[in-house]
Amino acid sequence: MNTPYQIIVGLEVHVQLMTKTKLFCSCKTVFGAPPNSQVCPICLGMPGVLPVMNEQAFQLGLRAALALNCQIANFTKWDRKNYYYPDLPKNYQISQYDLPFSYEGYLDIDTSSGSRRIGIIRAHLEEDAGKSMHDESGRGGDSKVDLNRTGTPLLEIVSKPDIRSAEDAETYLRELRLLLREIGVSDCEMQEGSLRCDANVNIHILYSSDNGEEIAATPLVEIKNLNSIGSVGRAIQYEAERQYEAFQKDPKNYRFGKLLKTTAGWNEARGMTQVQRHKEEAADYRYFPDPDLVPVVVTAEQIEEVKRSLGELPSQQRTRLQAAPFSLSAYDAQVLTGQGRKMVAYFEEVAKISDPKSACNWLTNEVFASLKERSEEIDQFPIRAPQLGELINEMKQLGIKREKARDVYQKMLAENVDAKTAIDQLGYKPFDDNLLLDLIRKAIEGNRKAVLDYKKGNEKALDRVFGTVMRETKGMGRPDRIKQLLLEEVAKIEA
Ligand code: ZN
Ligand code: MN
Repeated sequence: MNTPYQIIVGLEVHVQLMTKTKLFCSCKTVFGAPPNSQVCPICLGMPGVLPVMNEQAFQLGLRAALALNCQIANFTKWDRKNYYYPDLPKNYQISQYDLPFSYEGYLDIDTSSGSRRIGIIRAHLEEDAGKSMHDESGRGGDSKVDLNRTGTPLLEIVSKPDIRSAEDAETYLRELRLLLREIGVSDCEMQEGSLRCDANVNIHILYSSDNGEEIAATPLVEIKNLNSIGSVGRAIQYEAERQYEAFQKDPKNYRFGKLLKTTAGWNEARGMTQVQRHKEEAADYRYFPDPDLVPVVVTAEQIEEVKRSLGELPSQQRTRLQAAPFSLSAYDAQVLTGQGRKMVAYFEEVAKISDPKSACNWLTNEVFASLKERSEEIDQFPIRAPQLGELINEMKQLGIKREKARDVYQKMLAENVDAKTAIDQLGYKPFDDNLLLDLIRKAIEGNRKAVLDYKKGNEKALDRVFGTVMRETKGMGRPDRIKQLLLEEVAKIEA
């Protein structure tokens, strides 16, 4: 640790589940619909209505929880979390309190210092609140409320305070987003609010007091309004430094439990946290079981069925790509899986036809850039895996150099032709043995002295002759074949 303190972070993530309808009514959940166009008496909190649980929301919650290695409760219930806010028409949120449907899981992340396991305390289901819209122009306009989001299903995922740096927090969020997208639970668009993150941050400081070495812990600060993964990292870094400065001003004040947990907002423009209020405790919400909703029972068969349907998860893919027959580096495996399952499937196909390392290089060096340029997904990409595999093989067989191969690739992409056609049309004729022998004999003629030096035992002397031939082929001759023919020719010469 380079700093005189250790950062301790726990993340609370809310993701919006990809259901067609809300958690307890049949209203749609389309993003960007006109305000208050997706509401009904149930999500508006009218008296006398009866909520009914959305089965699909529960299934998606189960998927996520199992992918996060959570224990699943066989009995779970719904609770009312009571508070008053203009965007919460019922004055309570239906959530899960003491019996969440899942708990005690983990997510493995690949950090710069190796793999780390981040514990998950719990993942529970709850409904979203609406959105207040205030006039921020300062001209005193009315505040408005849009209740379209009210009742939208959310999964709240609470990590253990296992995260030790801003960088690891970002890695955790990227991994979580990738996982939830891959298993079809959420689109995790932070811009649209379908992934929201609060960070609980404090620091542990080793310092010398009258009693000798002691560890002081600063009080927790919960940071809200984090709108991007980058801002989560920046906020944690800022907050840790701020807490350390505050500690240094008055170390005596920092005894465990003396200072209250606070809530702060992250101001991205100013790059700083701003304290908002002291945090409510759970008791302030007067939780109690929702009498309108039946508890949910989950069977072992249901759990097994969901497990079977999950498919290969990103962390499993990373492990598999690093093992034979692919044997990719940890970095390459991370980069490929980070692009999703479709990319991994495409890679595997190319690798099977050609070889894993070349396949990975072509994807990361060329294909990723092309996809970005063309705003395409890999399944829409015109060069299909067999064609890219063929290009890689042709390149090796004909000894086509990288820059030339790139021209072939660009032609394939622009004109939708296969590798052989593109090579033909570009006039990249392979050098057969006869052509190569001509060049080799000429090069031997022109480098008599080097050849004789080589015959006298100076191994390196032949490099010059080899280089001459390579230059003559303009990158179109196979180096291994040239080397072989050259050695054969030189062997025929008397020393
Ligand atoms: Zn509704
Ligand atoms: Mn929540």
